[in-house]
Amino acid sequence: MAKVEHDLTDTQWHALMEAWGGCAYCGGDGAALQKDCMLPISRGGRYTLLNVVPACASCNASKCNTEVITWMRRKRLDEPAFLARQVAIARSLADPADPAGLPAPVDPPA
Ligand SMILES: [Zn+2]
Repeated sequence: MAKVEHDLTDTQWHALMEAWGGCAYCGGDGAALQKDCMLPISRGGRYTLLNVVPACASCNASKCNTEVITWMRRKRLDEPAFLARQVAIARSLADPADPAGLPAPVDPPA
C-alpha cells in the first residue's frame, strides 16, 4: 500500500504561484494565497504539484472540502479553462525526469 505523501516543495509552490499569477479560481491577486488541494485531503487528496493550486482566502474558505469541479460549477466559474490551465502549468513545472509529477517509486529504508 502506498502511504500518503505530501511532496510539494517550497520551490514548486512558489513556481505555482508565479505561473498562476494570482488565485487559480477567481484570478484575484490576494497577498496571502493559500495552498488549495483540488481534491481535498479529507477525500484522499495530497499536497502535490498535481493537486495544489494557489487560492485566495475567499475562494479557499468557500470551496472548503468540496471537490473542485462541483464547487466551480456551483460558483459558475469556468472549470474547463481552469482544468486546461492547471494541467498545462503542472506539466510545465514537473520534473523533466518525472513528467507525470508523481513521487518516485522509491521506498526509503526503514
Ligand atoms: Zn479567489
